[in-house]
Amino acid sequence: MTEHNESGGPHSQSDVEQAHCERRLEELYAYLDAEVSAEEAAMIRRHVADCDPCAIEEKLEQVVRQLLRRSCVSEAPVTLRTRIVQEISVTRVRRY
Ligand SMILES: [Zn+2]
Repeated sequence: MTEHNESGGPHSQSDVEQAHCERRLEELYAYLDAEVSAEEAAMIRRHVADCDPCAIEEKLEQVVRQLLRRSCVSEAPVTLRTRIVQEISVTRVRRY
């Protein structure tokens, strides 16, 4: 019994999903900035609900935004933002 045929096709499911996610991430940032319509926001939320990489990205972005807001700077220096993202990324990599 063979469930998988290795010569099934040149495009694996994950390739397609990754390209799909890259577009979604751009929309995700717009969504977090409240720059999308209610319809788009619903679509993005639905995607994030069953896409782990995007869910992680959304959480990461929300944490960064919260930290920046809490630090009471209207425009946080890029270096601070980069440091936060790096710290969270390191934690994420270690966990896997
Ligand atoms: Zn995704």
